[in-house]
Amino acid sequence: MFKKQPICEVCGDNEATFVSLIPVQPNSMDGSWKFTCDCTSQIEKNPLPINKIFSSPTATAEWLEHMREKNWFKKDDFLAMMNRYHDWQGIEK
Ligand SMILES: [Zn+2]
Repeated sequence: MFKKQPICEVCGDNEATFVSLIPVQPNSMDGSWKFTCDCTSQIEKNPLPINKIFSSPTATAEWLEHMREKNWFKKDDFLAMMNRYHDWQGIEK
């Protein structure tokens, strides 16, 4: 799925296994999407296993379609996370 596994953007120590919404305050759905490992399990919202949502282009598209209906889902922030990954991995956009 990924040539190079993303690294957790919160601790920077481990391979990321999730994409998660990291809220600005506890119990808020306002926050930023980040690649994460288990280190954010106490604070993250809506953690999604990377090996599930990026298992195929169809899986990713279906997940994005599902999220589009949530009024708290900030597509631009999610895409910014993907762009950070592409920049880090050196993928042409
Ligand atoms: Zn981490």
